[in-house]
Amino acid sequence: MADQSAPPVPSDHIMGVYSRTPLAFERGEGARLYTTDGEAYLDCMAGIAVTALGHSHPKLIQAVKDQAEKLWHTSNIFTIPNQEKLATALTDATFADVVFFTNSGAEAIECAIKTARKYHWAKGNPERIDIIGFDGSFHGRTLAAVNASGNAGYLEGFGPPMPGFVHLPYGDHEALKAAIGPTTAAILIEPVQGEGGARSLPDVCMRGLRQLCDEAGILLIYDEIQCGLGRTGKLFAYEWADAPPDIMAVAKALGGGFPVGACLATVEAASGMTPGSHGSTYGGNPLAMAVGLASLEELVKPELLAHVREVAGYFNQQLTGLKDRFPDVVVDIRGKGLLIGIKLATPNREFMQHARDQHLLIAGGGDNCVRLLPPLTLTLDEAREAMAGLERACEMAQAKVKAA
Ligand SMILES: *Cc1c(COP(=O)(O)O)cnc(C)c1O
Repeated sequence: MADQSAPPVPSDHIMGVYSRTPLAFERGEGARLYTTDGEAYLDCMAGIAVTALGHSHPKLIQAVKDQAEKLWHTSNIFTIPNQEKLATALTDATFADVVFFTNSGAEAIECAIKTARKYHWAKGNPERIDIIGFDGSFHGRTLAAVNASGNAGYLEGFGPPMPGFVHLPYGDHEALKAAIGPTTAAILIEPVQGEGGARSLPDVCMRGLRQLCDEAGILLIYDEIQCGLGRTGKLFAYEWADAPPDIMAVAKALGGGFPVGACLATVEAASGMTPGSHGSTYGGNPLAMAVGLASLEELVKPELLAHVREVAGYFNQQLTGLKDRFPDVVVDIRGKGLLIGIKLATPNREFMQHARDQHLLIAGGGDNCVRLLPPLTLTLDEAREAMAGLERACEMAQAKVKAA
């Protein structure tokens, strides 16, 4: 018999693909999470940018409850009225004309890659299969998604790299120009990198990408799974540069914690996707769509986006001060809006533990960063509390540097 009062320990029966922190939560409210033994934590990672409206949002709870009592699932062979509604809301708010719903970000990426290749195939250019991606990118964990990211650690042991994926340094326009050729299908990029360390692509580069794609007759795919849906202070990060893609993957915040993803496309880019060419059992089912609709209705609100910009401005100013005060610890502040990266001189895993000691939850990231990905509803008071925790964490990291 397991001892119910013992601290949570990793189970032998979970596949060991995560090195988990022995912290378990049983409830949440807004930006606050409560452990099984009643301790409160300030949640500045939001399940990696998923619970964008905070925990236990009353409208999302209501949407799940109402739909759960009516109908959970039918099949995509039937019309799903709320799927049509959510697709209309998403296309009204974006460059896109059509949407395919998925259960995750990686599936939205899969759909984006398939859509791009099928577009060229249907146009009589089946040789155009190459997806150009960038160093430090993250597109999910399916085989195609890890091949698209090109992160060696995620590919190792899973067979030879798949053909049709090319990787370039992030932000090198000349290398990109040289790499585009007769077998190129599309460019795939996160306007603001998430896992790779919160690097934000300058607006001028995004506009340059759009122009390159137009000139070469290839498609531009954005992965806005993490940076989209309000996180940067606009509904989608591409709006800052006014450089829309042809295809875009979204997920994370769309379900606010319920698994919902989507691949958005122009009608032209999706012209190869005909009946039978793609599908999903669960994608876009009535339960998921009810939550997605409720969630999007909140995320598009101009006052929420203005709030994100305000809180982001506060963090940016305060974090710059922190960097000045702790040059031995903080190397750089990056990102956009409330997708914030703090590049550290000390090990990021240790820093995350220092933050947890302050009951502050932050995410890790590539390039020795930690990320702040709070709910978009984080109040300024809570942002101040987060800064106090980060300052304490810096002091602890600094003390370790001095002691070494
Ligand atoms: C999380 C993430 C994904 C993968 O999403 P899953 O739902 O885990 O499959 C892909 N791209 C980006 C940018 C992400 O942040």
